Amino acid sequence: MIRIGIDVGGTKCLGVALDDTGKVVREVRRPTPHADQLVDQLWEIYAELGADGALGIGVPGLISPEGVIRASPNMQGAYNIEVGPQLRDRIGNAVSVENDATMAAFGEWRNGAARGADDALIVTLGTGIGGGVVMGGQLQRGAHGFAGEIGHMTVERDGVECPCGRRGCWERYASGSALTWLSGGLSGEELFARFNNGDSFAAQVVDTFIEWIVVGLASLTNVCDPEVIVLGGGVVTSLDQHFDRVRTCFGEALYSSKWRPHPRVEPAQLGEYAGAIGSAVFAGQLAR
Ligand SMILES: [Zn+2]
Repeated sequence: MIRIGIDVGGTKCLGVALDDTGKVVREVRRPTPHADQLVDQLWEIYAELGADGALGIGVPGLISPEGVIRASPNMQGAYNIEVGPQLRDRIGNAVSVENDATMAAFGEWRNGAARGADDALIVTLGTGIGGGVVMGGQLQRGAHGFAGEIGHMTVERDGVECPCGRRGCWERYASGSALTWLSGGLSGEELFARFNNGDSFAAQVVDTFIEWIVVGLASLTNVCDPEVIVLGGGVVTSLDQHFDRVRTCFGEALYSSKWRPHPRVEPAQLGEYAGAIGSAVFAGQLAR
């Protein structure tokens, strides 16, 4: 059975078709249109990928259980767009519309680095921090669908201002954009290049950045006691050579560190495909 997933990003839509084994057999990329044209664009991508099987969509923002985009801050005009109902009229019932970060987490859990774990934490360090929490073999949605907004945990009272209107959110300290802020304006690549040339300022920034990552991971571990923590997002590729440092610092920061098993900390496996693959697998469950 073919399953199709589309990840709607701020600038591009990435669509994939998965075969029975979970392998990406076709992919399509299109620029993200104005919200008015979104449903037609999604339909076209679905048609181009074969117009066959379940369709899952991941969209940034607040999505209702029926698949209506209530608000999507980075997409022009995206208020109350009935993506789910309109696509169901054309395709049938096997259509899901979910938050993009939740779907990326679902993808890493079902087909990526957290595969097989009943308790996992998936953390994506991008412009902000997104994620998903799996407990007892279930992706946690919460009472209103907002579970897993881990980037907005407060890690410093009266700290740095966040676009969410609050202060001291974790994503202001431990995301890709936070790394630029901590380094006084360097991109991740520039910073890690300087680090590799033995620059002591760069080394200090990397240390501070890892400490901020670990603060959040250790707190989350107190709440959900995962077997594995998966770290994804653009920054993680650059952090690759520092992964053992992240693991060591995380182990030291854990509550009751000496007396407990430590969760594994692993890099994500699906890269930019996580959201599209997660959406396809999620929608595939509806088709059964
Ligand atoms: Zn915030």
